[in-house]
Amino acid sequence: MNATAAQQHEVLVLGAGYAGLSAAIQLAARTRKRGDLRVTLVNPYDTFTERLRLHMTATGQETAEMNIPELLDGTGAGFVRGWVTAVDAETKTVRIDDDRVLRYDTLVYGLGGIANTVAVPGVDDHAYTLNGPQDAALLADRLTRLDGGTVVVGGSGLTGVEAAAEIAERYPELQVVLLGRQEPGASMHPKAKAYLDEALARLGVRVRSGVEVAKVLTAPASRRARCCGPAAPVSRRWRPPRV
Ligand SMILES: Cc1cc2nc3c(=O)[nH]c(=O)nc-3n(C[C@H](O)[C@H](O)[C@H](O)COP(=O)(O)OP(=O)(O)OC[C@H]3O[C@@H](n4cnc5c(N)ncnc54)[C@H](O)[C@@H]3O)c2cc1C
Repeated sequence: MNATAAQQHEVLVLGAGYAGLSAAIQLAARTRKRGDLRVTLVNPYDTFTERLRLHMTATGQETAEMNIPELLDGTGAGFVRGWVTAVDAETKTVRIDDDRVLRYDTLVYGLGGIANTVAVPGVDDHAYTLNGPQDAALLADRLTRLDGGTVVVGGSGLTGVEAAAEIAERYPELQVVLLGRQEPGASMHPKAKAYLDEALARLGVRVRSGVEVAKVLTAPASRRARCCGPAAPVSRRWRPPRV
């Protein structure tokens, strides 16, 4: 069926992370022959960010670059480079970079999630995150300039575990401490958890579980401070090493 541009059903996919990119590619591929549906993917960069490799970026390793328009090539999906600043569900429009407006019939919201840096005082000022490539690069730069000291990884979920292990492996001269409410790998099968515990021990990562990050201070006071407190949301975050 051939439809004019005005008749086409517009599917707008926001965010070209794992969710958005695969949704756009698969939807475009499956509906391509119909001709009455158009898929457009919106992302601020034209390079795909493999978030689950950001701990590698943070330790100075290079990862493969994937160009989003090239990945979409041949699928029929379009690409718009820009930052989504507003969604208006009433008019079914999305504002891009405050100066462009895109219309949609169906919206796929795949803007991902980032570490909450405001829930715990001091995080914004003194911690690093792995929210994106730039954040990971900042941490990488900091780590390369250290010749000793302690790196505290806040959050003992899989991202924290991966980051702590990677930093300990790449920088054996640094002491790495992994803090969190739960034990690393708490939800894993006991055999997998035992493997994880053994790997962290072998790398010299000091694990402190059952703790709550209540505040992040500058060193050296923070070394005396409070990691244990009342329950509050704790996101993955890094306290900068000793300065
Ligand atoms: C270091 C690290 C290691 C991880 N390891 C694993 C793992 O081993 N296994 C696993 O399953 N998960 C892992 N994760 C989690 C995994 O990366 C996330 O679950 C996954 O990235 C979520 O995919 P997503 O597509 O929803 O969002 P994202 O991958 O975050 O993608 C969101 C996209 O939206 C874009 N975007 C954001 N805001 C805007 C805006 N306003 N306008 C336009 N675009 C915007 C972003 O630039 C990005 O391209 C890890 C995460 C990290 C940080």
